[in-house]
Amino acid sequence: MQEALLTPYPFIKVALPVPMRTLFDYKVPKAIALRHTLKPGMRIKVPFGKSSRLGVIVSLSETSDWDPEQVKPLTSLCDESSVITEELMALCEWAARYYHHPIGDVIFHALPVLLRKGENAEFRTENWWLTTQEGQNLALDQLSRAPRQQDFLKAVQQHPNGLSQHAASVLDLAPAAGKTLEEKGLLRREPRSFNKSGEKHAHQMQVPPTLNPEQTIATEELLDHRSHFNVALLDGVTGSGKTEVFLRVMERLIDEGKQILVMVPEIGLTPQTLKRFEIRFNTDIVLMHSNMSDRERLDAWLLAANGHAKIIIGTRSSAFIPAPNLGLIVIDEEHDTSYKQHEGFRYHARDLAIKRAQSLDIPVLLASATPSYESLTNALQKKFTWLKLRKRAGNAHIPEMERVDLRGKTLIHGFSEYALASIKLCLERKEQVLVFLNRRGYAPTLMCHQCGWIAACDHCDVNLTVHKRANKLHCHHCDTQKALLHTCPECQSEELFTVGEGTEQIETQLHTLFKDTPILRIDRDSTQRKSAMAKLTQKIHEHDQAILIGTQMLAKGHHFPNVTLVIIMDADAGLFSSDFRGMERTAQLITQVAGRAGRAKKPGHVLLQTYHPDHAAIECLCNLGYEHFAIDGLAERKSLSLPPFYHQVIIRAESSNEQEAMQLLAAMRNDLEPYFSKEVYLVGPYAAIIVRKAGQHRALVSIKSPHRGPLHQATQMITQWLEQSTRQHKIRFAIDVDPLETY
Ligand code: ADP
Ligand code: ZN
Ligand code: ZN
Repeated sequence: MQEALLTPYPFIKVALPVPMRTLFDYKVPKAIALRHTLKPGMRIKVPFGKSSRLGVIVSLSETSDWDPEQVKPLTSLCDESSVITEELMALCEWAARYYHHPIGDVIFHALPVLLRKGENAEFRTENWWLTTQEGQNLALDQLSRAPRQQDFLKAVQQHPNGLSQHAASVLDLAPAAGKTLEEKGLLRREPRSFNKSGEKHAHQMQVPPTLNPEQTIATEELLDHRSHFNVALLDGVTGSGKTEVFLRVMERLIDEGKQILVMVPEIGLTPQTLKRFEIRFNTDIVLMHSNMSDRERLDAWLLAANGHAKIIIGTRSSAFIPAPNLGLIVIDEEHDTSYKQHEGFRYHARDLAIKRAQSLDIPVLLASATPSYESLTNALQKKFTWLKLRKRAGNAHIPEMERVDLRGKTLIHGFSEYALASIKLCLERKEQVLVFLNRRGYAPTLMCHQCGWIAACDHCDVNLTVHKRANKLHCHHCDTQKALLHTCPECQSEELFTVGEGTEQIETQLHTLFKDTPILRIDRDSTQRKSAMAKLTQKIHEHDQAILIGTQMLAKGHHFPNVTLVIIMDADAGLFSSDFRGMERTAQLITQVAGRAGRAKKPGHVLLQTYHPDHAAIECLCNLGYEHFAIDGLAERKSLSLPPFYHQVIIRAESSNEQEAMQLLAAMRNDLEPYFSKEVYLVGPYAAIIVRKAGQHRALVSIKSPHRGPLHQATQMITQWLEQSTRQHKIRFAIDVDPLETY
């Protein structure tokens, strides 16, 4: 009774990072209720089982569904204000429902790692150097025998408000000299809260180009929609000046005091991209991506949350970044599959961003040269504003696409003679060539000449990739690595040979073919270290002639003005995929890679090496272009009742036992199917294409429906059923709503 007087809400409902689709009730102890105002979005510590957990308050409640005597009190409060704003809490709750994912996991996913671990939501403190009275007055020549101390003192004297530790290291001041000056009583240190604006670099600001007529129309249309919810698809060929268009729109919104979230694909965030923003906006820009430390990410998050950062450039997870004055979300390369999380909480950042913008009543801008079939359909149905840029900006032209028939031809290290001759000519003109092969490593297969043995992964149904330089065999599916073998483990023969080519091999071969030409490889292996990509792009810009060889990493967002020839080694790679999205992906990849050619003044040329030059898809793409290709593809999807016309959910199960996952899904279908709406169609269970991955046998059920409602209901029943039945079995299951992979 007394507790009820203290607060109308003696109970809280808490999200915990556990795989259960439920919230947990706790009591608010009197001592805490007296001193603090609890709010949704605050973190707390609670007892859970035998241990203690960090949780997030989702709501306050007058009652509990449980016996109040049994409900445990929370242990302590971690925040004075909410780390999940009301707006983001609503988004998380929506996402948990839509994706049928445990709410605790969704909410924790929305937080930076350090906050998930209980760190305070505060900026790190950094030491600042200040002069003492004595240090300020000291004549510098008195330190002429200690030049490092002299430099240090001079720098601090010149910064009467203090010099941050970070700035001191940028200026190359010796830390030991600082310490000595401190001991001499000439300098002192003061801890201050980390503040990004203190270290802003001075950039030469760029004068924006005059927009061409297509860009002008698009910009005006976008500005008209800048103060309410609207989704625009900026569909412009590669190099048509899409970025320039959204920079204009951003300029206006920033003048109006808004914050802008720019989402980019996982590997699309190049130093070039950031530079492009920095030379245009004299404002605070923060980055959010996986190459940053947890501390850097928390600082960026805090700067966005307090409204200080005006531009936030981030990958998928930045869809959840708090920004009190958010005025626009830009999703660059919106077709990119890295926007969809492929494990755990399988959300699509683009779809989430659209939902978020709708609640905030702000615009979303999707940009791509190869829009996803989903977005294209929305544009065709007039749900999205469709803005087209069909010409390249400035003086550049769309590159010409030419098919090279490989049938019956002699290949030299995977190249046709025609391709090699074209490379030679291009280099002679002092221009650059880009060779595209979407397969990293030296070779995809290692085989024995005597007995036919093939090196396969012990944990997956796939062959191991040969990495010669690292002297390893590597499974690209589960990351297992072992030393490269030189003797066959079956017959002890030493005649092992590789089959097929990867980028590492092509690089080696090109070195022998073009001895004095700089050859640069860009793939996941060559860019692992933090600044590797920046160094590689720098090298590319330093040389006139060069050959770049790379995987799809090269396809994204790069601007290499001197590339005039693009060679697609294997245009057939995705042609016969068993996934219905195979064609869409192939067309996007080819168009994007081709788009790297001739982006500046010099015209570009693209060679597609193929064994199927007359394949309707290749022909259509080369002659009519992506939009035409996509519209044909959509007609086919419609006739086959496939997404985006039907909505789809995939249920995945995996077990270490060969049969269990399959049996479980069959039992589920058997039990539940009679209760599903007639508009829900099931396929499966069927085995995944790579049945065994990381030791797990994988089975799937696909469900689809022309309507979201019945699909959602069926998914809910399935989720409940699986939660109940997997308690006894050691089977993991996952729900994948709007899947991008269906095998
Ligand atoms: P996209 O984002 O469509 O690939 P970008 O915005 O990167 O295209 O533009 C491609 C190149 O053309 C860039 O170097 C850019 O600076 C330049 N550019 C864009 N718009 C114009 C314009 N109106 N006039 C001249 N150059 C332009
Ligand atoms: Zn052998
Ligand atoms: Zn493996």
